[in-house]
Amino acid sequence: MAAHTPETILSVEHWNDSLFSFRTTRSSSLRFDSGHFLMVGLPNGERPLLRAYSIVSATYDPYLEFLSIKVPNGPLTSRLQHIKVGDEILVSQKAVGTLVVDDLLPGKNIYLLATGTGLAPFLSIIKQPEIYDRFEKVVLVHGVRHVSDLAYENTIRAELHEHPLVGEQVQEQLIYVPTVTQEDFHTQGRITSLIENGKLSSLSGLPKLNPDTDRVMLCGSVGMLQDLTELLESKGFKPSEQRGVAGHFVIEKAFAEQ
Ligand SMILES: Cc1cc2nc3c(=O)[nH]c(=O)nc-3n(C[C@H](O)[C@H](O)[C@H](O)COP(=O)(O)OP(=O)(O)OC[C@H]3O[C@@H](n4cnc5c(N)ncnc54)[C@H](O)[C@@H]3O)c2cc1C
Repeated sequence: MAAHTPETILSVEHWNDSLFSFRTTRSSSLRFDSGHFLMVGLPNGERPLLRAYSIVSATYDPYLEFLSIKVPNGPLTSRLQHIKVGDEILVSQKAVGTLVVDDLLPGKNIYLLATGTGLAPFLSIIKQPEIYDRFEKVVLVHGVRHVSDLAYENTIRAELHEHPLVGEQVQEQLIYVPTVTQEDFHTQGRITSLIENGKLSSLSGLPKLNPDTDRVMLCGSVGMLQDLTELLESKGFKPSEQRGVAGHFVIEKAFAEQ
């Protein structure tokens, strides 16, 4: 089997000048867990130009979806941001990653903490019925700089509530907390601040984070991962050290090691 399969772009949505999403066809042989990432890219002479992308779509969706940054002069995204319906892109056939629910100890509530495009894998996770079967409440926190960076806000607030498979669970169990750092918004501040000053607790209606009851998944910039890892460890949370060894929280290690 080839390492990378050409897939066709089905739709493209630009959220603002620095963020866009795209859907592609999905090879019938591709299997993944929610939270996994694939290598995605474009032909580039002898060696394709590929980058890691978390999968936004659910494991049962017949298409693949991704959320992408547009890095000015970024080798891949300066080209990828111009893709159009009908174009081909390359997608690896082996999904991998350490941001998986199976590596968490059993718990009562789960917190999905994301900054920027770190939202991507959680969009897949909140469309899986299993997350609602495992946890009483699923708290999705998305930290961004600008209001227009709140990609998928309407999907999470409205469309998912009508979803034929998870709609009812979403209505009862999903708590969405968007927060903005550099513009006026009803919730402002970094995720670490919201945890430390008790605002996350008052917004979610849940007690403060506690390793006895809560599990956490982290996805975002290297700085965000460091800050939140330190904060969680100071509260007694232990990370999942490796695949198959469960902990109180998990991060995407490939992201952290970039
Ligand atoms: C496990 C993993 C999963 C990833 N998932 C995604 C994803 O779902 N969506 C996505 O857009 N990117 C994701 N990335 C980053 C992605 O692989 C590329 O870095 C990104 O597409 C930019 O590619 P580029 O070639 O244009 O620029 P690069 O040369 O790769 O990056 C240039 C610089 O841009 C900044 N940058 C890169 N990616 C981001 C980002 N996502 N947010 C903010 N700043 C960034 C960094 O400072 C980086 O040094 C992921 C990376 C890893 C390791």
